[in-house]
Parts: sequence; C-alpha cells; structure tokens
Amino acid sequence: MNRILSASELALYQTQLTPSGKVRALLAHQWEHFPIAKSNHDALSGVREKQVVLDGLTVRVQFNSARIVSSAAKVDAKSISERKCFLCEANLPVEQRALPFGENYLMLSNPFLIFPEHLTIPHVQHTDQRILGRMGDMLALSKELSDFVVFYNGPKCGASAPDHFHFQAGNKGFVPLETELETILNQSQSVVDNQSLQIFRSKPFGANAIFILSEDPIEVERAFEKAYYHLALLSPDELEPMLNLLSWMVGDRYCLVLFPRRLHRPSQFFVEGDANILLSPASVDLAGVFITPQEKDFEKITAADLHDILSQIMVSDAVMEGLCEVFY
Ligand SMILES: [Zn+2]
Repeated sequence: MNRILSASELALYQTQLTPSGKVRALLAHQWEHFPIAKSNHDALSGVREKQVVLDGLTVRVQFNSARIVSSAAKVDAKSISERKCFLCEANLPVEQRALPFGENYLMLSNPFLIFPEHLTIPHVQHTDQRILGRMGDMLALSKELSDFVVFYNGPKCGASAPDHFHFQAGNKGFVPLETELETILNQSQSVVDNQSLQIFRSKPFGANAIFILSEDPIEVERAFEKAYYHLALLSPDELEPMLNLLSWMVGDRYCLVLFPRRLHRPSQFFVEGDANILLSPASVDLAGVFITPQEKDFEKITAADLHDILSQIMVSDAVMEGLCEVFY
C-alpha cells in the first residue's frame, strides 16, 4: 500500500503551505481516518493536569492513561525479540498514513499522544536506536518543522522501541523547557560564549542539562559529539551513553538540550504498595511535563517526589563538572 499522503489528500486539510502546515494536515487527516489517533486526541482535551513548582520553575503533571503502553513498556531484549516491531512500516495499522522526511524517515501521527500535535518519526529501516551519526538528521528535522520541538529518547531512557530508530516531535508552546527557555538560560552557567556558539550548564527543574545554541548545525553537532564521547567513556558497558535530547529553532539558532542520565527508572517505579509511582521519565518529563498514566500517582505526587526521582535518574553535579571541561 502507499502510505504517503498524496498532494490532493493533503490539500483537503492543509491551511499553511509550510512544512509544519503539511504535518498539521497529516494530523488532521489522521484524526478523521484513524480511530485510535482520534479517540486519544479527543481524550487529550479532558486529561487532568496540575502545576508543581520545582526549583522556582513551574512544571506540570499530566494524568494520561493512554500512555501506560509507553510508561510500562517492557524494553528488555527478550520482550523486544518476542514482539512484532510496531515501527516497521509493514506492521503499522492500515489507517496510519505518512509524510516523508528526506529519504530515510517517515513522519507519522503518534496515536498515544502527549502533545496536542505529536509525531513519531521512524527510520524507514529496522535499525537500532542509536543517536551517533544522526544528530545532523535531528537538527535538519528541527529546522524543517520549525513549529515543533524534536526529541530523542535513548534505548534505555524511555524509547519504547529501542530496536527501531526513531525521533518524536511535539508542537511548540507546550513544554516549559521551550516556553521558559529565556528564564532558564538566565539562571544557567555560561560554558562557551563566542560569536558562533553558546553552551550553558543548567539545572532546570532540578535535572542537570547542557544547552547548545548556534546558527550553524555543524557547530551544534561537533559540541554534542564531544559530550557524547566523554559520557561514553564514563559508561563503557552501555551501547550508548544514557541520554535524552530535545532540539528546536530559536529564531535562526538551533537549540539542543542534552540530559545525561544514570538510571532508566527510579526506585518508585519498582516498589510495591503505597510508595509505588508509575513514572518512567523520558524527554517530555525532563522538559517539564511529567506523565502519570495512573490516577493514584497523579493525585499523590508532590514536588518532593519529583525532586527525588530526578536525583536518582540524572547524572550528578560532579559528572557535569567533568563534562563541561570537554567544551573548553
Ligand atoms: Zn522495526
């Protein structure tokens, strides 16, 4: 079957002639023709959210039961080998349509959405989730989809298909990391500040992070790779250093945020009884929208819980000290 939406199909939904407008047309088409995407999209307007102040910044907790499929996903090698890959084109639902990004990616509506406009962007081949060598693609995608924030979850940092390479993207104006960027950068430590490149060390919402900004995607990629190889040396047994990444355009500048990790899921995920909290943090959580698929967790979770969860899963201040030295 041909999954790619034709120009005439797109024209029925397209209101803006930009690449972001094309993607919005894909989403509008899918909400009409793809029942799971529609019902989850409709349900999103009714999901409950509450605000929590973390280290002086306001974040949100979202009760989103549809996300249980991702939050509780079994991503061990045995479970993965026993299931059909849901990102391979041959296994996508028949209703799922696509737009191409370059020759290697398909842009799809994510039926289990968090953002009101939420895309999954798998590689056309079944190939492992590894970011090395694909940062250029991530930045190109950010430039193409200038109304969106593009993100990447490492194979042990929230990707529910660690065996099939994919990015995701969500509309701008949703995650505090993007909407509060100026405030966050004002409270950050400048590590590099020259004409073509700015790098900041920051701890938005209590999560250690590196912000890399430049008009030149090659500069961003080069700085990212320095950080990547340093983190890889610290975790020689991992397939790639544990990390989450988000990138978007700020005017003419690319902004890449790197969250280095040390743990996939916090202790609260595994304990039984009252202390259990089913929260499996990935890029969107680290960007300030924490997803709880269970109502009991949404009701009880506090700023202290979020702080404790982040202190378990993110790298220490000492690791950040060493990491920043690679940029000098
Ligand atoms: Zn696959």
